[in-house]
Amino acid sequence: MRILIAEDEPIVANNIANILRSAGYAPDIAADGEEAWFKGSTETYAAIILDLGLPKLDGISVLHKWRAEGINTPVVVLSARGTWSERVEGIDSGADDYLPKPFQMQELLARLRAVLRRVGGQAQSVIDAGKLQIDLRSRMITVDGVLANLTSLEFRLVHFLMLQKGRVVSHSELSENLYDHDHDRDANAIEAIVSRLRRKLGPGIIQNKRGFGYFIASADVL
Ligand code: CA
Repeated sequence: MRILIAEDEPIVANNIANILRSAGYAPDIAADGEEAWFKGSTETYAAIILDLGLPKLDGISVLHKWRAEGINTPVVVLSARGTWSERVEGIDSGADDYLPKPFQMQELLARLRAVLRRVGGQAQSVIDAGKLQIDLRSRMITVDGVLANLTSLEFRLVHFLMLQKGRVVSHSELSENLYDHDHDRDANAIEAIVSRLRRKLGPGIIQNKRGFGYFIASADVL
């Protein structure tokens, strides 16, 4: 799942990227407001972490521009000065959550999970689809209660399909969400991961709509 980090301090940006990567996300960094706006407008991200104090174009202006363009990607705003007026300004500009600096990485992860769940229409950190269950906090996937041993990339693919469950996700949308910006995107690679997942999870979990893409059916259909 691709996450954009708009943060001009390289140490902070890299720390966040490392934490996100180890949590199974595919982070992408923008070091100023113009780059952040451009990437957020032209690339597909599951969520954006946006520092307000950015060079070239400040975070609030970036957020205004995205929302005016109809870009509804969930945004968690970071700010060095955690005053209530900034918080209000951020939320009024269309931020989905707000985190004052300095913050704990675990709190950032929790808030990110929360905005992703809201987008996926899920209220808890456990998502069910019939026999399949994914626990976002422990990052465990079970089928009929049996733990599946998945790689980080496999987990990301199932996680993404679960957030969109019931909807067919195209190959290109999947690879855009699975890989970092620079990664060589290859439809065959997605097919290879899906066939490995089918062996690990059993038949009927990840379904194929020929010529369109993959989906995980909602519980009522399974
Ligand atoms: Ca900054």
